[in-house]
Amino acid sequence: MEEKIVNISQEDIERQYEYMSLMKERTNAISLEKGCTPKVHVLTFGCQQNEADSEYIAGMALEMGYEKTDTPENADLIVVNTCAVREHAELKALSITGQFKHLKAKNRSLKIGICGCMVTQEHRKDDIKNKYPYVDFLFGTNMLWRFPEILNESFERKKRLFYFDHESSNIWEGLPVKRESGFKAWISVMYGCNNFCSYCVVPYVRGRERSRQPKDILRQIECLAKQGYKEFTLLGQNVNSYGKDLGTEYDFSDLLNDICAIDGDFWVRFMTSHPKDASKKLIDTIAKQDKIVKHLHLPFQAGNDRVLRLMNRKYDSKGYFELVSYAKEKIENVGLTSDVIVGFPTETDEEFEDTLEMLRKVEFDSVYSFIYSPRKDTPAAKMEGQIPDETKKKRFAKLLEVQNSITKDLNSEYVGKTIKILVEGKSKTDDDKYTGRNDKNRLVHIDGDDSLVGQFVNVKIDKADTFAMYGTVIK
Ligand code: SF4
Repeated sequence: MEEKIVNISQEDIERQYEYMSLMKERTNAISLEKGCTPKVHVLTFGCQQNEADSEYIAGMALEMGYEKTDTPENADLIVVNTCAVREHAELKALSITGQFKHLKAKNRSLKIGICGCMVTQEHRKDDIKNKYPYVDFLFGTNMLWRFPEILNESFERKKRLFYFDHESSNIWEGLPVKRESGFKAWISVMYGCNNFCSYCVVPYVRGRERSRQPKDILRQIECLAKQGYKEFTLLGQNVNSYGKDLGTEYDFSDLLNDICAIDGDFWVRFMTSHPKDASKKLIDTIAKQDKIVKHLHLPFQAGNDRVLRLMNRKYDSKGYFELVSYAKEKIENVGLTSDVIVGFPTETDEEFEDTLEMLRKVEFDSVYSFIYSPRKDTPAAKMEGQIPDETKKKRFAKLLEVQNSITKDLNSEYVGKTIKILVEGKSKTDDDKYTGRNDKNRLVHIDGDDSLVGQFVNVKIDKADTFAMYGTVIK
């Protein structure tokens, strides 16, 4: 599929600000009529890129005069930002959208919009058109920057709107953003993917790889660092390809070096890396820069070379192992994590054993494991030899058992040691505790108070289990 990369012009972005002003007049009128400010509820499914996109949706909505609400029942505008990576996430988004029908019945002026990867697929767009008549507007991932225009039009034309652009992959700057955190920021450095792994819909729904200009990224981080932000996570489907489309020699390692030269006390994370593009230069950069966390998320997906070829991953298990060995040699105490798929079409029990073998050889800190889920129109979904659910579940359970034991052993090595963590907030599982993460993204529970949130602290680890560590703050 040939797609153009389109840089959205400053004039086009200014036009969106004009739509935001028009919408502001409209929400002011709604405020006067209702006696309270209209509210927006943004619901996000999927990956960090979607969370980052939702922060822009919220930012534009706030600029248009809405206030944020966590409860859809109070909302005057609901935007569902969907994911297409697994069927489960799609069905969940559709089910929740179904529940909004009753809200619309109670409040005729409620606007409901759906965006993101799921609705960028033709068959899902048709589903929404035909089966969810109370959804007012839809826009694909390439149309995010036109959200103010689409919402304005939805009010003016009083008809359902469906906006897609499958011919181009857009890149834009300068839209308002409402960050969820006051100390951690998602920074998209590039969008899209050119890799076409045979199981993945991302290249179809997010378009071709395109990189933001370094100056735009650096300016944004500089500004946030001045505000005291403590962690920047650089996002891209394949960050190691950053810069290839810029027509210069500047690459992802150069970008990391320039970010580290910015004043401030902060950590830099990034995801996701593709093993075929992760270079020794990148590993050397991580090793030498103190601000870059000593953590590499490097998805290997399968430990068997025949399965890797079927997945179209373009590396083999030997090359992968050499790369992580280089990382272990160069980066002291590096934390390694990975994504793994079990039950890919035709995968045999013996081939699955190769995946377990890779876990044991590398000793990952943790892995995100997924049961293979066929995605419509991808090559893997059409392959013969789909694995029965029961076999997939058994392999999944075995993989968890092997990895959990490795994680527990690695965590227990921390007991008695003092580590630096960034405190994120109250624990979700224990009301009396606060939680943070170390540079390897491991969860640490501590006793503390609100004054620690958003701060780096040193913690002596007292106890560790598979999923978290427990420690005492060292003053
Ligand atoms: S690298 Fe492969 S798995 Fe990752 S987004 Fe691209 S196509 Fe999907």
